[in-house]
Amino acid sequence: MDRINRPKLHYYNLGVAKIEEIRASKMRPRLLLHSCCAPCNSYVMVMLSEVFDVTLLYNNSNIYPKSEYTIRFDELKAYTEHVNEKYNCNIKIVEVNYDTISYHKKLAQVNDDKEGGLRCQTCYEIRMDEAYGYALENDFDYFTTVMSISVHKNSIILNEIGEHLNQKYQSNLYLFSDFKKKDGLLKSKQFSDDFKMYRQQYCGCAYSYSAYLKRGNNEKSNVQKTNITN
Ligand code: SF4
Repeated sequence: MDRINRPKLHYYNLGVAKIEEIRASKMRPRLLLHSCCAPCNSYVMVMLSEVFDVTLLYNNSNIYPKSEYTIRFDELKAYTEHVNEKYNCNIKIVEVNYDTISYHKKLAQVNDDKEGGLRCQTCYEIRMDEAYGYALENDFDYFTTVMSISVHKNSIILNEIGEHLNQKYQSNLYLFSDFKKKDGLLKSKQFSDDFKMYRQQYCGCAYSYSAYLKRGNNEKSNVQKTNITN
């Protein structure tokens, strides 16, 4: 993907303006929110459900092994149920086919790249493209990814991918965001702590899992709750 290089707050400002425009319209458009895990979703899904009819899309074939994929998905489902009850929302969850073999084949050319580099950019592109296609096929009004809440993910790159996807699909579905701003990250931590949420030890793919094991951890600690998140 060619970089676009917009001014630093360009995408953040676009996202805030769009949300305020929708809030003022009193419409309630359908938003598909690509959701990688419960901690990243914790505050974002509550905030977005004030203005959107939210559906979470759990399309994360990057997560390896399957047992970890299932732990994260179960936590997301439990938290969504909690949010729906507590805030009287009706947030839905959709899971697409878990195909970690195809996902890792697509990453084969860039698997040596360090975390945060081209490998991760390719990973975002794969999952966001898949989610964008799902949003189009299922008549959503907007699509975005929760990943911009993470300090480990470059929100400018995520938004550039979103802008490229708008061009690719000749649509304006992508909602620009930088959810970590305006205390988003702090609120996310508070919501996660209140729920005593499961927090993963590594980002997701087999390469990050391998790096995690090399750091001296073992699979047993994979089910412990700690303060590390992705
Ligand atoms: S480290 Fe995370 S973002 Fe990067 S390729 Fe692996 S799963 Fe994707």
